[in-house]
Amino acid sequence: MTYKTIEKGAVDAACVMQDYQLEYQKFHWEQAEQALAGLPEGGLNIAFEAVDRHLNTDVAEKAALTFLSRNSTDIEHSLTYQQLAEQSSRFASALQQMGLKPGDRVYCLAGRIPELFITALGTLKFGGVFSPLFSAFGPEPIRSRLEIGQASVLVTTEKLYQKKLATWLLELDFLKHCLVVTEPEHTAPAGTESFHTLLQQGDPGYQCHPTRPEDPALLHFTSGTTGKPKGALHVHQAVVAHRMTAQFALDLRQDDIYWCTADPGWVTGTSYGILAPLTLGATLIIDPADFDAERWYSILQDRGVTVWYTAPTAIRMLMKYGTELPQQVDLTALRHMASVGEPLNPEAVVWGTKALGKPFHDNWWQTETGGIMIANYPCLPIKPGSMGKPMPGITAAIARRTDAGIEWVDAPGEAGELVLKAGWPSMFRSYLHEEARYQKAFQDGWYFTGDLAQFDEEGYFWFVGRADDVIKSSGHLIGPFEVESALMEHPAVAEAGVIGVPDELGGEVVKAFIALKPGYQANEELIREVLGLARKRLGPAVAPKSIEVRDNLPKTRSGKIMRRLLKARELGLPEGDISTMEGNNE
Ligand code: ATP
Ligand code: MG
Repeated sequence: MTYKTIEKGAVDAACVMQDYQLEYQKFHWEQAEQALAGLPEGGLNIAFEAVDRHLNTDVAEKAALTFLSRNSTDIEHSLTYQQLAEQSSRFASALQQMGLKPGDRVYCLAGRIPELFITALGTLKFGGVFSPLFSAFGPEPIRSRLEIGQASVLVTTEKLYQKKLATWLLELDFLKHCLVVTEPEHTAPAGTESFHTLLQQGDPGYQCHPTRPEDPALLHFTSGTTGKPKGALHVHQAVVAHRMTAQFALDLRQDDIYWCTADPGWVTGTSYGILAPLTLGATLIIDPADFDAERWYSILQDRGVTVWYTAPTAIRMLMKYGTELPQQVDLTALRHMASVGEPLNPEAVVWGTKALGKPFHDNWWQTETGGIMIANYPCLPIKPGSMGKPMPGITAAIARRTDAGIEWVDAPGEAGELVLKAGWPSMFRSYLHEEARYQKAFQDGWYFTGDLAQFDEEGYFWFVGRADDVIKSSGHLIGPFEVESALMEHPAVAEAGVIGVPDELGGEVVKAFIALKPGYQANEELIREVLGLARKRLGPAVAPKSIEVRDNLPKTRSGKIMRRLLKARELGLPEGDISTMEGNNE
């Protein structure tokens, strides 16, 4: 079924992008670069752009970070831009006093606490490389990532240290310091140092290290959806894209109250959970608690959130609870909603308009791209199920690799690999210790994303599936997203994951796994009904041949359905690297 295009609403006069076509044509990266402050003595530093540039302006005394209480939606603690500048300078100065060198790696294993933000920004100010970890990781994924990046410093909390690190961390010979955020009256565990003691000794007037645009800044590990996570390295120049993409794709402005729900361990949690919104002088809402539908709606209302950036899994969880809850809250402050991380089923976009009064704006990017590359914008109509159009400054195309060179897909509606013209500011500069893999991702000046997509007559891009997940059945190339979206149309289906299983006749046949919404029972009749709907929507060649109901589908901690794991389990094959799987190694 093709969904009706959602016409754009009246574009607010203050909307950052008024006319996509015009902006796309006239845009140059130099223009975005000029909008940055730059370091007083020359050079570029992400943390300076995020914090220090606001000093001596109206923004300095406004709240930068507002941390909510765990038990209510009240603000428990907040930091102004001025305070954040001082605290991050203290941390940068502490790193210097510890004898660290610019380029050294500082990791953080913590939930959404003020110290995480201070660590990230202070490390960048010092010229170090910041690397966040999911706080729910178990010891093994933590250890392997510390090893890959040869961490010099790890910042963590007392609780996480005792639970996951105490027995082995101090054996690591490359790790010079472990800084622990302790309860006020506690001392740091033996062999570690107190984060707050060091912070107090740091100089609040520390001046940002004169980093250059190509100096390394961020080390992010990919989500591990398709295999072993890769360490993608980004440089300070990335901030040019962070700021500009938040303006265009999130319509983010200085007076916004902004809430990004991404886990701090995932690239979105840094690029758009810390850096981009601060460069624009917005106020960030930070919720330390886990997902809870009622709480989330209350946060949107009570905190007057104006721009909300979330993910398909979260939206699907909200959908599970229906439209009643959101109707009990006042969401008039909410101006823009966006989603990233996985394909956003058209059903979810439409649900947004019904339940929340506005559509979700899907956008696409990867750890490797460092920032949003393709997006739906407030000034364009939304075609539910489409990722939108390339950001100004980004050239996207559909191509196939051949030994003779790149073969371009010029026709709308034909699937191929999504490629981006190399050279945008937030493009990753390496896969750590995997140079050959990095080189392989590029051909003739184009970056091959590993995702399959297609475009339509109007230049909208549509996600088909990851190259690894695409199913070849009786001569058809089937993208799991299309099948999953059709299954999601059934009122009982909360989430769906689709794989190909080997078949003598067809090569592969489509098999679906679904989880049900509360109140629905798995039985043959229901499965027949869902199968029937899928056949009607997709035709018998593409519809699943069988459906299995599960309580939950395996997901990464960043909320992506792990189709490779569904497949490995189905076929009795080795599970591969499951370090990023939600619920694993707690
Ligand atoms: P790994 O590379 O380790 O397998 P990953 O690709 O899931 O993990 P991320 O960089 O966090 O790691 O995710 C980027 C990928 O997520 C994209 O390549 C794409 O497959 C998917 N994705 C992100 N946003 C969207 C979107 N809006 N629509 C469709 N897919 C998306
Ligand atoms: Mg990937």
